Amino acid sequence: MRIFDPHIHMTSRTTDDYERMAAAGVRAVVEPAFWLGQPRTSAASFTDYFDSLIGWEPFRAGQFGVRHFATIALNPKEANDPRCRPVLDLLPRYLDKDAVVAVGEIGYDSMTPEEDEAFAAQLALAVAYDLPALVHTPHRDKARGCDRTLAVVAESGIDAGRVVVDHLNEVTVKLVRDSGCWLGFSIYPDTKMTPQRMVELLREYGTERMLVNSAADWGRSDPLLTRATGEAMLAAGFSDDDVDKVLWRNPVEFYGQSGRLDLSDLDAAAAVDPQTGNSILRGGS
Ligand SMILES: [Zn+2]
Repeated sequence: MRIFDPHIHMTSRTTDDYERMAAAGVRAVVEPAFWLGQPRTSAASFTDYFDSLIGWEPFRAGQFGVRHFATIALNPKEANDPRCRPVLDLLPRYLDKDAVVAVGEIGYDSMTPEEDEAFAAQLALAVAYDLPALVHTPHRDKARGCDRTLAVVAESGIDAGRVVVDHLNEVTVKLVRDSGCWLGFSIYPDTKMTPQRMVELLREYGTERMLVNSAADWGRSDPLLTRATGEAMLAAGFSDDDVDKVLWRNPVEFYGQSGRLDLSDLDAAAAVDPQTGNSILRGGS
């Protein structure tokens, strides 16, 4: 099983996690810029964070044969802090980098006017830099948040096929599907989606434009839940090809729209289980 985790916050994870992920078949990840829990007090903090997303993390991932890409943005929560707003002016420098495959995470946290403004400005940057956009939906008041998110996306003029709307569930899946955007699902150990609920949605809505991520961060989360979802799909009667589409070909197609998703030499680099030295490409364990 080859796995591309399209949304995972490796900054918050240990090197052991990279090792376990590689052994489970994870060969590429996208790490979106997000809120680190501790509020940042100046734009300079973001510079160091963004640099680590395109420098240190790809290096750490590379030690286990995992290809690491990033998305860069001012996250919705910190868009409300006037001390962080100058980050918007830093973004162009990063959106030019080869390791950056989308603008994100952008969108809403509490749906404030400040968030409106940062969201629209960053969708405009995605259009200007010809990059896809990764859009976070609020965890509270989900249906209304999703509705408003889709309205702002439509207004921005960005092609819906270049936008993924993330953290969806049974309440929001249909809205986003009808919009033409890609659908992102974060699988968590005990909140939001579980592998079993994800399988039900794949049964009902099919595998087109569907992205499954672990979103693993500093909260209770599990970077192997992409693999668990693949296993749950197989147990429910989906084929190996269906699993490959959802866990590999879909994220490759979505982020490939950046023109920067270089996966060359990955077969050789990610083919070896760091513990056993055996190939993990064909099925794995
Ligand atoms: Zn996230």
